[in-house]
Amino acid sequence: MDDINLQKAIEYYRNNQSHFIELLKALSAIPSISFPGYSAQEMERSAQFIKKEFEKLKLEHVDIITLPGAHPYICADICKHPNAPTILLYAHHDVQPPLRAEVWNSPAFSPEEREGRLYGRGTADDKAGIILHIASLASCIAASGCVPLNIKLLIEGEEETGSEHIDSFLQANPERIKADCVIIADSANFDTGIPSLTTSLRGLAVLEVTVSALESPLHSGLWGGPIPDPVIGLSKILSSLTNKNGDIAIPELTKLIPTLSKKDNDDIMSIPYTTDMFRQQARVKSGVNLHGKNQELLFKIWRQPSININGIESGGKKVGNVIMDKAWARVGLRLAPEMPANKCVNFLKKFLVAKCPHNLHLEIDNSPAVDGWQTDTTHPAFETARKCMQEAYEAEPVIIGSGGSIPLVLSLANMLEEVPILLTGIEDPYTNAHSENESLCLSDFHKAVESQIRFFYALASTS
Ligand SMILES: [Zn+2]
Repeated sequence: MDDINLQKAIEYYRNNQSHFIELLKALSAIPSISFPGYSAQEMERSAQFIKKEFEKLKLEHVDIITLPGAHPYICADICKHPNAPTILLYAHHDVQPPLRAEVWNSPAFSPEEREGRLYGRGTADDKAGIILHIASLASCIAASGCVPLNIKLLIEGEEETGSEHIDSFLQANPERIKADCVIIADSANFDTGIPSLTTSLRGLAVLEVTVSALESPLHSGLWGGPIPDPVIGLSKILSSLTNKNGDIAIPELTKLIPTLSKKDNDDIMSIPYTTDMFRQQARVKSGVNLHGKNQELLFKIWRQPSININGIESGGKKVGNVIMDKAWARVGLRLAPEMPANKCVNFLKKFLVAKCPHNLHLEIDNSPAVDGWQTDTTHPAFETARKCMQEAYEAEPVIIGSGGSIPLVLSLANMLEEVPILLTGIEDPYTNAHSENESLCLSDFHKAVESQIRFFYALASTS
């Protein structure tokens, strides 16, 4: 390995940490919210900000790419080593809406450092990912005039709203993403100070269920009794979805839960995890019984399906004495990584229909389901990444799953086939991503940059 340049690059980063944190603050101050109803100009402003930083690094083919109806992507590359591998670096520049202003301890878009963390919307998810890429590249360039291998960058603008256009983007720009290894810096560490590689994601399906009996609400005194109540009907359907242990009670669906390999099983069992840690991280109220204990909880959130009712509506709090005409619920189904999402949705629909009482009218709408993802970790890039993390964090890395879904990962995996995809990231259980008071652990951010610098040199030296 090119030890001298590696040491120089790390030294450069250590001497310039505050510059990159200032850069992260400036980028996080731009309210680039990709949701409908928010200013598309802010998305454009953050794209321009990133483009300018890429240009300062003298990267090549720095472009803002737009597709009809999609927020801007920023791409760039620096490919000067014909015989060295190419790494694709990904992050996203859009953020979630800030939610309740009064709950933030400092304004969402005025990033503020407190007790070793940087608070603000996007400071972790995922503007930290962008600055991580910029800082690691800048450090290599400062150390030796160049990055030791070939780099491509893809910064997306609509990850938070479901990456609706990512497949068309990837198909239209295959050269922009062709690589031998991908780093997606949009995941989380298992805990602060514990570097982690995420190797599985759950699938996701969302169904909107409406149960109705009447054309409009009726006086419950004059009509109550003979008419099957749609709200009770919906409640009965929903309550049949899980058994008393909280497990999904749809036999056709649970038959599709894959058995874990011994390695996957051992990886999870090797994590020292306790029920108390879970309760604290999820802020579960005292006295509430969990389904499962210790590592079982990790199996449940990473490797098993789960159902939640995301929302339920009928009448509302100001309702009078009526029989409601209809009731609505949003049912969210998370799937184990290898479960076929569309097949599972069909089983769920069939089950809902079968459980609907009294011939009440039942309507089910669903958007396309997202499959889960699981990667084989035998490619040497995983071991190299593990080693670099271990050196940078001075802590043993853990292999983890994520209960969430990232549609882009699956799209890239389908397109790049055997190419290893490394999901790294700088969130942690205290980040509060998507919620108020989002924050980034600064000491872990620095370690993540050093780890990525190490990875560049290590991968370059193996080629
Ligand atoms: Zn993200």
